[in-house]
Amino acid sequence: MSQDCIFCRIVAGEIPSAKIYDHGGVFAFLDIAPVNKGHALVVPKKHYETLFELPEDLGRELTIALKTVGRAVMRATGATGLNLGMNNFEAAGQLVNHAHFHLIPRHQGDGLNLWTQHAYENDEEMRKLAQAIRSAIG
Ligand code: AMP
Ligand code: ZN
Repeated sequence: MSQDCIFCRIVAGEIPSAKIYDHGGVFAFLDIAPVNKGHALVVPKKHYETLFELPEDLGRELTIALKTVGRAVMRATGATGLNLGMNNFEAAGQLVNHAHFHLIPRHQGDGLNLWTQHAYENDEEMRKLAQAIRSAIG
């Protein structure tokens, strides 16, 4: 646990939160500034900074938590949709450096636009980038 991490302190109960889930290595609570009411954060109890530090063997517990909390958030808020999001690193808007998943309940026509999409210059640019990413995967 990191003393200067707000989510570690929430998991430890040192800072109050609107807790909704606590099973195994995973904890969830309501985001204090919701995009839509019921917006929840699912976090590993241990301090990992981003997606890239998360141990693979936490994957099963995380998936169960995301599905369980996501379903419950939808039921409790009457939402008919749900966004799952994760910000990694400052450039992507990560403010809290303890890996976390956002579960955002959605309602038909709520007008939320989470990101703006663009076009590639041409097919060649897109194919080259796919090739570069395949090479990076190795
Ligand atoms: P991110 O930009 O992905 O790092 O998101 C951090 C999220 O944590 C934001 O949506 C904040 O509203 C939320 N947050 C920060 N402090 C607290 C807190 N004490 N309790 C609940 N949510 C928090
Ligand atoms: Zn932490």
